[in-house]
Amino acid sequence: MRIVPEKLHWTGTVSAVEPRIRLLRSFSEMSHTYQGYTLIVDGRIGADDGQFRIGIGKALHAKHDFRIGDLLEGLCLPVQDPRRDSVTHYRVSRVKRRASGETVPHDGPPFQGIAPALTVYRERSRRRLAARKYSTKCFGCIWASKMAVEMLIDPWNPSYRYRTETFCYGPKSCRLYKAGRCRKVPGRKGMTWVEEDWVDEDATAHRGPDD
Ligand code: SF4
Repeated sequence: MRIVPEKLHWTGTVSAVEPRIRLLRSFSEMSHTYQGYTLIVDGRIGADDGQFRIGIGKALHAKHDFRIGDLLEGLCLPVQDPRRDSVTHYRVSRVKRRASGETVPHDGPPFQGIAPALTVYRERSRRRLAARKYSTKCFGCIWASKMAVEMLIDPWNPSYRYRTETFCYGPKSCRLYKAGRCRKVPGRKGMTWVEEDWVDEDATAHRGPDD
């Protein structure tokens, strides 16, 4: 008989909302899965106090338009394999908004309005963002995303490595932007692919500097 784990009660204040996107890399190839959104919440889950990353679905975000300052509560589970996820908790249910944060206009940076539909992120595409910028100056920006990355090392003898990477979907002219070092992707037989700047330039070539 399958044992269903008991969900934990959580409550806290939203300090950031960002898209929850998974990146699969296979040497120079990549694909994205748009899973939903991440609520970064300062509060309590079960008996633990702290800052948590809670994964939610796109329908829940569309229903509530979550924003910074919302006081929320609900139920959730810890993720099964933290290596494979950029959130700490997911499978959220019974969400209630106890108080509403203010809707901050989009005149950032960082831009702190309501995170748009996932199709908007997909259409805009992303540039790599230095991890330090992500966690400092860009914190709370709706265009920032910390992705769980799964790297297929050898397609003929499947083995994987995992890490997180940070990205920006915002305007290319943003004064806070810093790319950071080119990222390296391991491959079979000790080979390494370096993701040069042209990858980001190509991915966002359809946007003007202020789009
Ligand atoms: S660099 Fe990107 S993520 Fe950071 S504030 Fe600017 S638009 Fe937002």
